[in-house]
Amino acid sequence: MCGIVAYYGPDQAYDFLIKGLQRLEYRGYDSAGIALLNGDLRIYKNKGKVSELENVAQGQNLSGTRGIGHTRWATHGEPNTVNAHPHLSQSGDIALIHNGIIENYDTLKKVLIERGHEFKSDTDTEVLTHLIEEIKEQENVDLLEAVRLALNEVVGAYAIVILSKNDPNTLIAARKGSPLVVGISDREGEFYLASDATPIVEYTKTVTYLNDNEIVAIQDGKMTIKTIDNVSKSPFIQELEISLDALEKGGYEHFMLKEIFEQPKSIYDSMRGRFDPQNLTFAMRSLEEYASKIKNLDRIIIVACGTSWHAGLVGEYLIEEFGRIPVEVEYASEFRYRNPIITEDDLVIAISQSGETADTLAALELAKEKGATIYGICNVVGSSIPRLTHAGAYTHAGPEIGVASTKSFTAQVTVLTLLALGIADIRGKISRERLREMFAELDTIPQKVEELLQSCNEKCKEIAAAYVDAPNCLYLGRGYNFPVALEGALKLKEISYIHAEGYPAAEMKHGPIALIDEEMPVVVIATKRNYYEKVLSNIQEVKARKGKIIAIVTEGDEKVAEIADHYIEIPDTEDCLTPILATIPLQLLSYYIAVMRGCNVDQPRNLAKSVTVE
Ligand code: GLU
Repeated sequence: MCGIVAYYGPDQAYDFLIKGLQRLEYRGYDSAGIALLNGDLRIYKNKGKVSELENVAQGQNLSGTRGIGHTRWATHGEPNTVNAHPHLSQSGDIALIHNGIIENYDTLKKVLIERGHEFKSDTDTEVLTHLIEEIKEQENVDLLEAVRLALNEVVGAYAIVILSKNDPNTLIAARKGSPLVVGISDREGEFYLASDATPIVEYTKTVTYLNDNEIVAIQDGKMTIKTIDNVSKSPFIQELEISLDALEKGGYEHFMLKEIFEQPKSIYDSMRGRFDPQNLTFAMRSLEEYASKIKNLDRIIIVACGTSWHAGLVGEYLIEEFGRIPVEVEYASEFRYRNPIITEDDLVIAISQSGETADTLAALELAKEKGATIYGICNVVGSSIPRLTHAGAYTHAGPEIGVASTKSFTAQVTVLTLLALGIADIRGKISRERLREMFAELDTIPQKVEELLQSCNEKCKEIAAAYVDAPNCLYLGRGYNFPVALEGALKLKEISYIHAEGYPAAEMKHGPIALIDEEMPVVVIATKRNYYEKVLSNIQEVKARKGKIIAIVTEGDEKVAEIADHYIEIPDTEDCLTPILATIPLQLLSYYIAVMRGCNVDQPRNLAKSVTVE
């Protein structure tokens, strides 16, 4: 979380910084700030969004060919202007922006206070700024060396960028655990830095992703990289593939709506070229390279957080159904701290849209240390998880800017479906006939999603209007649709702030049924292929207690439609592919309810995308 940007070059930095911060605002929007260097070092910062920072900056001296900018998701210290980044050192010479957490900030702060330092903010970040200056003065070293020595004293995670009034031709950045990309312009001596590539793509497509424990120094227009142990590194330069169009709203009112409507394409892109329905073969390098490992697997562990964890649950059902391997799905944050049993025979799959989720990354590092084969399903190319894993498959959903994940979920489920089928094929657990049927059905999914979006959009709007003031909402599903119920509930609470819970439909009678009265909307996924009659009984149980039923049903269904208060039809498909379709109306329902409640759907309160803190 937190977005950071920096510019070093011949032009004025301000425009790049502001535009970049707007692109990174999905990472946090508690406050925003910039520092500009042009002989003097000027800082403008403010609580709230980047647009408010622009108001503050208006009419001020905005000159400077070096600059840093930050949009904050507060971890230490309340979201106010004083705690906004950049933070200054004791003398005011050094300005620093930070994404991450300095875990030992308290100990460092005490020592610095004893040495006469005075702090203005409650952040962990300010401590690092002071520490760098203290070391620079005490050790009589240059800025780069001071940063290196300071980072050796820091415990925690960071991506930082530093400017100094006394070193106007120097910009220093470093990373450990939080992402940082350096864009290298065609023009000599011009560099763009950011938390991800989205602010950079408009200016250059040539980038290098910094690795953990690396420090990049731009001095007199030249870039060098070294580790915090003082070992020089040559940058791995690569070309970006994202286009600028993908980062704009393209006529939609919100990124979230745009991303919901992009799903026919993102699902198609996530499966495109990965299987051949004629010859019944797969074209996934990870499956080829790890075929013998997959043959002998005893167990798969999926680690993820949030929406990706829900996709992981669908993955569990898929892999167990087709591949016949036991699968465990774990919250990454729990897994990493409970001394899990991991062996060299395990395959650990991490799912993360950003590829930067701190807990998932740490869980994966742990699994790798213990000798497991680690596999990543991520969306952001070049991010930390894909760089750590032995193998993996990207989701190809394209940039997801809305903080609430939509197209990432369906793309993750698509990739997991292919993975499950691939595993089944390698292990000889699926017949040719069944594989043919599955490939044929998969092929139809993007089109079915397209039709569904058209057919259910208005209906979702109507239903949303009826429940806009609901204080609570229950989501029920069975089998493959249980994770869909969880995901539907998460979407609603994330963006509309309505309390919502997802449950396996049969669990309702073990507790949640007590909540049902005429005020309680209950969204039930009641598609035809599996457990239909059972879910029908669950619906009757809700109706008997006067609950309101919003049912997701298979096209042509009459039984549920007759008893439900509202129903939304989805195209018929294989049971295991239902999550991809059933999720769509739930996304739209949440979206419209949130919009009608006047909520900021793209940037819901307290949340941020790309959770790079634990
Ligand atoms: N720990 C810093 C702060 O609270 C940065 C937060 C973050 O990266 O999310 O200001």
